[in-house]
This record gives sequence, structure tokens and C-alpha cells, in this order.
Amino acid sequence: MSDRKALAIRALGPYGGSAPGYRLTTFLIDGESALDAGCLTDALPLAAQRRVRRVFLTHAHFDHIASLPLLAENLYGLAAPLEIVAPEPVLSALSKHIFNDRIWPDFRRLPSRARPTVRLRPAPEGRPFRAGAATFTPFAVSHVVPSYGYIVSKPGRCAIFSGDTEPADSIWTAARRAKNVKAIFLELSFSDTQARVARASRHLTPSLVRSELERAPARVPIYLYHMKPPSLARIRREIAAMKEPRLRLLESERSFRF
Ligand SMILES: [Zn+2]
Ligand SMILES: [Zn+2]
Repeated sequence: MSDRKALAIRALGPYGGSAPGYRLTTFLIDGESALDAGCLTDALPLAAQRRVRRVFLTHAHFDHIASLPLLAENLYGLAAPLEIVAPEPVLSALSKHIFNDRIWPDFRRLPSRARPTVRLRPAPEGRPFRAGAATFTPFAVSHVVPSYGYIVSKPGRCAIFSGDTEPADSIWTAARRAKNVKAIFLELSFSDTQARVARASRHLTPSLVRSELERAPARVPIYLYHMKPPSLARIRREIAAMKEPRLRLLESERSFRF
């Protein structure tokens, strides 16, 4: 990285579902840390995959971890293990249900226990976890399984990622306490016509986003992500009708430098 001071964020996948042209939720920070792992092996060539040092996870739902087993396989045998970082409930779900020698090999002890391919590192809530020149601080949000947002910070700048969630005070508490918030990445999964399924699965719709806006810091742009591809056309219309300049639907491969 030429400029280690800036926070470089690349939205590899802004969607909550998969189809050609619609990649699953994944952000790449400074080229070396991923936030969620929906599409790492689709979006990055092998050389760029090898530069990923760690993957922070918001939660263990499949759309956020889909590429993680495949990334581990591609990194097999490298000198330094890939770190998988998240609060404990997320890591234990991965251990139990993915790297269990049934769904996928236990890469925590392959090629050997002494030189594993992946290493699980717990990140306690509220505590900054160092990742190169940045820190990632998880905070709990509200979803059908344990789910966490992250404050991603460098001196003088930070961005907030909501993770999958229904309306949650913790996002706005984090946004108020953090200094120099440059952007908020907020989930938006379903259209207002699917309010029932959104409520049952604990996700946001455009109307819910609008009521959350009252609590958002003024003048900070809010990038909406995790749209379900079948709902996207309707979501686009509903958001456009709000005429709220702070709200933008995140596009694939959008890059930010803050
Ligand atoms: Zn999701
Ligand atoms: Zn989810």
C-alpha cells in the first residue's frame, strides 16, 4: 500500500444473494483484511487471495462465509496461516459446522497442527483488534443468529459496517462514539413489500432504513448493501422515491479511500 494512512475499502460483493453479476457480501480493506467472505475466491485472482491475511466475520450465515472454505484450500501450505477473526459465537459455529472434517477438512490442523492453514482468533466485543494499520472493533447487532457490526478505524478516519441486522441501537451508539466517521455501510435486504419476511429473518427494508436515519449522524453518507438480487429492482424504486441524498445503494467493485 502506498498510503498506509488512508482507509482503502473495496466492495467486492455488496449483495445478500448470488447470481452472475451479483456477488455475495464481502469488503476488502487495505487489500489485506476481508470483512465477510461471501465472494473472495470469485472476486480475487490467486495472487490477491494470497495477500489476504485475515478475514473478519459478522456472523456465520452461509452468504457471508461461502468462499471461506475455498479460500482456505487455495492458501493450503503457505507459511503464515489465514486468520479468521470474530467474536466467539461465530467462531464456534464455524468449527462445529464447517471445518469439521465432514462438510470440509479441518484446516485448523492441516497440513499440521504446528503449521495450520487457518487460525481462529476470537475478537471480543468492544475491543479494537489490530489488522495491519487499521483496527476492527466488533459490536453486537440483532439478527436470527449472533451477529456483529464493526467499526473499522485508522487515525483520523473510520467506517462503520452494520452486519446483518434488524433495527439496532448499537449501530447508532457506535456511530456517535466513533470519531471521524466517513461512511456507514448499512444492510438493506428486502423491499417494503416483503416486510413480513424481513421481520421474520431480522433484516431491514427501505421503510425501516428511513426510520433509522433519524438516529444517524448528519451528513455521513450511508451505503446500503446486502440487497437480495430478486428484490433489487423494487428496492431501487423504493429508495429513489425517498429522495434522501444520504442514502446510496452500493454497487459492485465500488472503491473508497477515506
Ligand atoms: Zn446475509
Ligand atoms: Zn444473516
